[in-house]
Amino acid sequence: MSDLPVLDHWVGGAAWPGTSTRTAPVYDPARGEAQREVRLAGADDVAAAVASATAAAPAWRDASLAKRQGVMFAFREILNARKEELARILTSEHGKVLADAHGEIARGLEVVEFACAAPHLLKGEYSESVSTGVDVYTLRQPLGVVGVISPFNFPAMVPLWFLPIALAAGNAVVLKPSEKDPSAANWIAERYAEAGLPAGVLSVVHGDKEAVDAILEHPDIASVSFVGSTPIAKYIYETASAHGKRVQALGGAKNHMLVLPDADLDLAADSAVNAGFGSAGERCMAVSVVLAVDSIADTLVDKIAERMATLRTGDGLRGCDMGPLITAAHRDKVASYIGVARDDGATVVVDGAGVEVDGEPGGFWLGPTLLDAVPTSSAAYRDEIFGPVLSVVRVGAYDEAIEIINASPYGNGTAIFTNDGGAARRFQREVSVGMVGINVPIPVPVAYHSFGGWKASLFGDAKAYGPQAFSFFTREKAVTSRWLDPSHGGVNLGFPQNT
Ligand code: NAD
Repeated sequence: MSDLPVLDHWVGGAAWPGTSTRTAPVYDPARGEAQREVRLAGADDVAAAVASATAAAPAWRDASLAKRQGVMFAFREILNARKEELARILTSEHGKVLADAHGEIARGLEVVEFACAAPHLLKGEYSESVSTGVDVYTLRQPLGVVGVISPFNFPAMVPLWFLPIALAAGNAVVLKPSEKDPSAANWIAERYAEAGLPAGVLSVVHGDKEAVDAILEHPDIASVSFVGSTPIAKYIYETASAHGKRVQALGGAKNHMLVLPDADLDLAADSAVNAGFGSAGERCMAVSVVLAVDSIADTLVDKIAERMATLRTGDGLRGCDMGPLITAAHRDKVASYIGVARDDGATVVVDGAGVEVDGEPGGFWLGPTLLDAVPTSSAAYRDEIFGPVLSVVRVGAYDEAIEIINASPYGNGTAIFTNDGGAARRFQREVSVGMVGINVPIPVPVAYHSFGGWKASLFGDAKAYGPQAFSFFTREKAVTSRWLDPSHGGVNLGFPQNT
């Protein structure tokens, strides 16, 4: 192990080193240097976290809705008051620029606020007198201990897609964040503890495949919520299902933005640049392909390139537009697609490889890149690149475009840019994608609608957050009851209070 500080797990309401001696470096991607190490849990460490959660779960499940809601509100206040601290952690370990880090936190905060409505959202249903003197009602009860496994690209927001709702519903949670930018998870767990969440109800175990496999196989974990790349999502879904767990596994994406000739081309160009290069393209809802109808394609490509020339790539703390990529290996992989596309006949309109950077030379830099006339047979079109590489595919008309989108194995997000309401409505009906934008490039639903794609972008039938999350994190129980005698609680003139 190096002399760098080491990030511990968070178990039983405190930092905990665990027993495994394995660690991994955590980089500052804007400098290209390791800034700390993170512990990598073994199966024994995961078992200890699950044991702590299992011990804490019954009391949390039995805490009144008023009490659980109080913790949710307190966490919301603390997170809101201290979000600058969290944003700086995100920029330091992920590399995204500070303004974007704040955007990520704001979208996580939305789910925290939504979870404050848990008492309403957990209400069951009641049918009176289904038979003489007999009533039937349904209850929603927590699952017990649930597992959450999150990716590197939203180290705060993705955990916050799941934690607030799982906890508000009365579950205990074991979170395994990405080992590439793990500090945000500990920061969140510490703030939940300050908000009054009892020790053990939320644990963070750091690690890689070994820790993930231990979660998937642990008999006391009732469900797994996963977000990451498609091959791993599929593996998680299959393995956790085979171990009898409820699973939602959100996978990768290749999001198309269709621009029809009647669209506002300035709005479309702004949107393509914002959605293509925000967070250096490391977003599952990034636009990675613009489908431009031939008649406007030249104009649109010019407008996109003009805007790209104004972008500043560099250190996220220096007010730049776009930060570095997560690791050197990922940067090199993303950059390799520029050559792939060129070899396959595409035109490299803007090559980000030689970008001038406002940052340290060792950072994992790649500038915004624009590829035009990319053939759909090219790996640059087919693969999820997950970087600042925007491909333009030229199409004859709407029908060709919808065929291309629907042939994609992914179905996370898509957008249409048009001023024709009929075309937009037809698109919304015909497209095989879970989240659709109409003149909106990144259609991430608000917290009170659920988030999730179709096809290889989501394995399982439950989306993240929103109403579907309250179903996912609870089990419904139907009670059929007959009471023969009335009863009462005696005389008390005080105004009824919830305790
Ligand atoms: P990843 O699949 O490499 O890692 C995700 C998680 O899985 C991490 O916690 C990681 O430690 C773990 N993991 C990695 N390899 C594993 C293995 N072999 N076995 C078991 N666990 C393993 O994903 P990433 O690179 O961290 O994140 C980027 C990916 O996530 C992209 O594909 C992106 O599209 C996707 N993503 C999807 C959504 C969505 O909502 N659909 C949201 C964010 C990110």
